[in-house]
Amino acid sequence: MTAQRIDGKALAEQVLAECAAKVQDLGRRGVRPGLAVILVGDNPASRAYIGNKVKACGRVGVHSQVHEFAAGTPQAEVIARVRALNADPAIHGILVQLPLPAGLDEAAILAEVAASKDVDGFHVINRGDLLGGHTRFPPCTPAGMMRMLEHAGVDLGGKHAVVVGRSNTVGKPMALLLLGRNATVTICTSKTVDLASHTRRADVLVVAVGRPGLVTGDMIKPGAIVLDVGINRTAEGRLVGDVDFASAEQVAGHITPVPGGVGPMTVAMLVVNTIEAAAG
Ligand code: NAP
Repeated sequence: MTAQRIDGKALAEQVLAECAAKVQDLGRRGVRPGLAVILVGDNPASRAYIGNKVKACGRVGVHSQVHEFAAGTPQAEVIARVRALNADPAIHGILVQLPLPAGLDEAAILAEVAASKDVDGFHVINRGDLLGGHTRFPPCTPAGMMRMLEHAGVDLGGKHAVVVGRSNTVGKPMALLLLGRNATVTICTSKTVDLASHTRRADVLVVAVGRPGLVTGDMIKPGAIVLDVGINRTAEGRLVGDVDFASAEQVAGHITPVPGGVGPMTVAMLVVNTIEAAAG
């Protein structure tokens, strides 16, 4: 059996087309959605991600601006900019690109973003709402994966979902969103004993670790839906996920490729959240 690929690039195009129509509607009400991105330091991966986000905004008519700071910028200066953006009526969404350089307090800076402009869904209020089962701004990567599952026609009720990785940005919020859709959820971490014994029981397997080839075909239940969040660069410069695609696609029912899977959906959901923020 060869798994059906869930084409994140194509689905993201669909989502962005819907976004463009919504931006036009808002335009008729005199509203142009605006996104501000804060980049501190010179992490090349962050720069590339921001480039994709700015490009996607431009394609659908969302205004975007990037606020760059050198790596050694004092925390107070970054916070002052966040506060200025909170007060700027032309800006509806604020994204602080993570990771921040050492020396900056990530939690303190994220807490400064107005919850109503927190399009990444990382503010404590939005995280709390997610825990309560309802959130206006679900974090973009998990939200993108939920959209992929919906598109693939997966009914999560009663399914066993296994999430490998417990980061605040991907693993934990994904587990909560799956739970909210009545999946039975297991979360695995670096301390999990016998990872394969868990992954083999997954109807839906989400892997968000950052280790190429961590999950191989023999660790996957036949017919499972596999969502690979990992983005890793090989020594030869190739982008690969956390799942060994060649062996996994022989066993899975559905699988996301890397690149062209979860990544483009993350960008699309940021645009969705920015438009939602602008819609008020
Ligand atoms: P992270 O914050 O580094 O978290 C990694 C998680 O993996 C941790 O919870 C860690 O467990 C767990 N882990 C490490 N080794 C493990 C093992 N052997 N078995 C099971 N779990 C293990 O990473 P992240 O921010 O979630 O990102 C994960 C990957 O996704 C990275 O490659 C990142 O680049 C990528 N990513 C992609 C997108 C996208 O849009 N496609 C978005 C965000 C991130 P402990 O908590 O026990 O340390």
